[in-house]
Amino acid sequence: MAKKSRRNTTKRQRSERRFLPQSASNPWLVRAPGAIGAMGIGAGVWGYFYGHFVPDEAHPVQGTAYNIPLFVLAGGAVLMAAAIWFGTSGEAAIRVGDPGISVEKGDIRRMPWWKVKSISFDGPSESLVVTGKDEADADFSFRVRGRAHPLAVAWIVKEAEARIPKKLNVDDADLARIGEAQEGGTKLVLEPLQVVGRRCAATKKLIAYEPEGVVCPACERVYHKASVPRKCACGSEFSKSQVSAAEADDDVDEPVRVAEADDEKSDASAEA
Ligand SMILES: [Zn+2]
Repeated sequence: MAKKSRRNTTKRQRSERRFLPQSASNPWLVRAPGAIGAMGIGAGVWGYFYGHFVPDEAHPVQGTAYNIPLFVLAGGAVLMAAAIWFGTSGEAAIRVGDPGISVEKGDIRRMPWWKVKSISFDGPSESLVVTGKDEADADFSFRVRGRAHPLAVAWIVKEAEARIPKKLNVDDADLARIGEAQEGGTKLVLEPLQVVGRRCAATKKLIAYEPEGVVCPACERVYHKASVPRKCACGSEFSKSQVSAAEADDDVDEPVRVAEADDEKSDASAEA
């Protein structure tokens, strides 16, 4: 929670981490059939070509025996298929970073931090439950299972703690189960956020030119540069140079009153 101010730099590189699911099954369910299947395929192919093209006078291959290599080959292929089936858990890849939390299954569906309604932990299924809206403002909720995505779960919690602590509903006991976040996944560098065409989070005014937009580094809400509040609705504070003149003047006159008013406004707009 004390990490907010560190993020308030104007020009920053956007990035995210991409986490691939781990197989939730016993790894031997993958290794054993995988190894035997591979041997079967190898032996079958070898036997098939040997039987066909290198006839041996002493061991004539005839009838059903002639097809044995094909059975071995088919059996090996079935075992390989089983290994692949056990090995791929069917879970989506998860991306966590500046653009928010994203679910990647074929295409990428993103939930920006400022559209997150709640992040909670479901103990029995050991999964993180994320609810909110996607970039197109459609309701979006998903689970990130701890068994398939232990690193992503811990990373989401770490980022949410720094960016949107008010939306993180995970108690200390669950935090202990989730464990410390470790650098994992693959770090991807992203394009700068496109602000043209977005609407100011405070006034709904359309951002028509790139320099008009001021982006909250924590939640990526976009404000028009004429109406940047002292504090973003996520709770993160803007640097003095970014805060619009009107707000900054108020701040000097009666700092305490303005701070309270800001909090109320923040909460109100966060609910909206
Ligand atoms: Zn913010």
